[in-house]
Amino acid sequence: MTHAQALPGSPHVHYENHRLKVEGVSLEHLAKEHGTPVFVYSKASMLDALKSYQEGFKGRNARVHYAMKANSSLAILQLFARQGCGFDIVSMGELERVKAVGADMGLVIFSGVGKTRAEIRRALEEGIFCFNVESVPELEVINDVALQLNKKAPISIRVNPNVDAQTHPYISTGLKGNKFGVAHDDTLKLYQHAHTLKGIVIKGIDCHIGSQITNMSPYLDAMHKVLDLVDAIEQLGISLSHIDFGGGLGIQYADEQPPSAQNVWSELFKVLDQRGYGQRHIIVEPGRSLVGNAGVCISEVQYLKPGEQKNFCIIDAAMNDLPRPAMYEAFHDIVPLTEHPERPTELYDVVGPICESGDWLGRERHLNVEVGECVAVLSTGAYCMSMSSNYNTRGRAPEVLVDGASSQLIRRRENTEDQLQFERLVD
Ligand SMILES: *Cc1c(COP(=O)(O)O)cnc(C)c1O
Repeated sequence: MTHAQALPGSPHVHYENHRLKVEGVSLEHLAKEHGTPVFVYSKASMLDALKSYQEGFKGRNARVHYAMKANSSLAILQLFARQGCGFDIVSMGELERVKAVGADMGLVIFSGVGKTRAEIRRALEEGIFCFNVESVPELEVINDVALQLNKKAPISIRVNPNVDAQTHPYISTGLKGNKFGVAHDDTLKLYQHAHTLKGIVIKGIDCHIGSQITNMSPYLDAMHKVLDLVDAIEQLGISLSHIDFGGGLGIQYADEQPPSAQNVWSELFKVLDQRGYGQRHIIVEPGRSLVGNAGVCISEVQYLKPGEQKNFCIIDAAMNDLPRPAMYEAFHDIVPLTEHPERPTELYDVVGPICESGDWLGRERHLNVEVGECVAVLSTGAYCMSMSSNYNTRGRAPEVLVDGASSQLIRRRENTEDQLQFERLVD
């Protein structure tokens, strides 16, 4: 690779004189300063990703509610809150995170199939924007809690439009037979029922068909199905003040070519215009597409282990830091922090130190690295830190936010004391 070449999918990650940088900051430098493994995020990458949505929304009444489960670190929430984003949350813990950064609770949407009474109560007390209701019994519980508090709960119903998002089965959510949303055919009945409940005020309709979607057609299918429902619901005299199309736009991990958010939304607004909904209040809940390509995880090579069938490159990041390969067989590109074009490459399975065969990060990768050198696992801004665990009593990695030529630690490394503090010896 040559001078200042950006890496595929990661526009703010590039080699300069064979050294990998995020924006203007050398990753070798950050590895020395913070140790490894460490997550590094590009602020410009997140802001550009958000801007792509906002360009697609120009002249419209539309807002991004960041699906914070993708990466819920406080500094990242702050960044999006300052840009006027709302949030899509799925637990009380996430609600408290939004509060902790001082964001507008009136822009919080609460999704998820298993909201507890305590969570519903807390969200009502905080005055959130709305609950995305995923079942009949949940609607009854929300109504009940609202009546107890002498409040009306704002809701939208998550419909399952039965479209195939053409993605991994674990991250596809819009097909019959999965746990999310209300079946398309039951939707009208449920809206009529909700309309009669004294503790409920109907605000909108919602769908979210899956994740890592890399082409337009599932969005178009879902949009037509949702708009058909909006037509039918409003004919019953129930008006909807917003339409929420969820998240799910994919990013480039390998050779995927997902459309930009701007292109997706300029196309979708054409459909909305054709059908007379172009000036409605539109909501989206993107997660991965705002943060995924902004992150890299730096890790040091501990051992190079030749095997009978395979060579292993054992690094100090593991499935507890980067669960996506183990969970979904997901692909993350892995590149050296310093290029050595003169050295030959070897074929390795890149693995972590955890005592599980599932603890692999990349299979059959051509690398020319030596022990003590570092690699970067790319596109690790989404569903990595937020899915990390303490398995094998490993402390979670620190996180660093890069802004131009400067960097700031936004989460320190977890130490063993942090982990042991909740436990008690028996008497
Ligand atoms: C996870 C989730 C999202 C975000 O999905 P991405 O694929 O990260 O964009 C949005 N809405 C709901 C309800 C979700 O569960």
